[in-house]
Amino acid sequence: MGDIVFWTLIRLAVSIPLVWVLKGYLDYSIWWITVVFVLYGIVIHPAILSYKRFEEKNKSILESSLCSSCKHFDKSAVLCIKYDKHPTLDYIPCEGLDWEPKNFESE
Ligand code: SF4
Repeated sequence: MGDIVFWTLIRLAVSIPLVWVLKGYLDYSIWWITVVFVLYGIVIHPAILSYKRFEEKNKSILESSLCSSCKHFDKSAVLCIKYDKHPTLDYIPCEGLDWEPKNFESE
């Protein structure tokens, strides 16, 4: 997840000077439309695709692993907060010893 945020910020940092330079070459009304397309095409759409890939890649861990029902599991980062490690289907950092039920009412 950190990768997605990092590369989104990098693309945004590249896009802003790009659209700023384009401002000198385009009519103002066309420039605004260009800004919208550039920001969507270079920043927003790739971030959405990356997030969908992230969700698809981690779907089984998020839905059917032991960690997914533990209160120490952070779904947004697919991370065990207690051990600061990423569980996988084959790897549970605590080996199940520190599992504690999640309070589903708070979600
Ligand atoms: S404490 Fe154990 S069961 Fe809970 S998220 Fe961490 S590794 Fe998974």
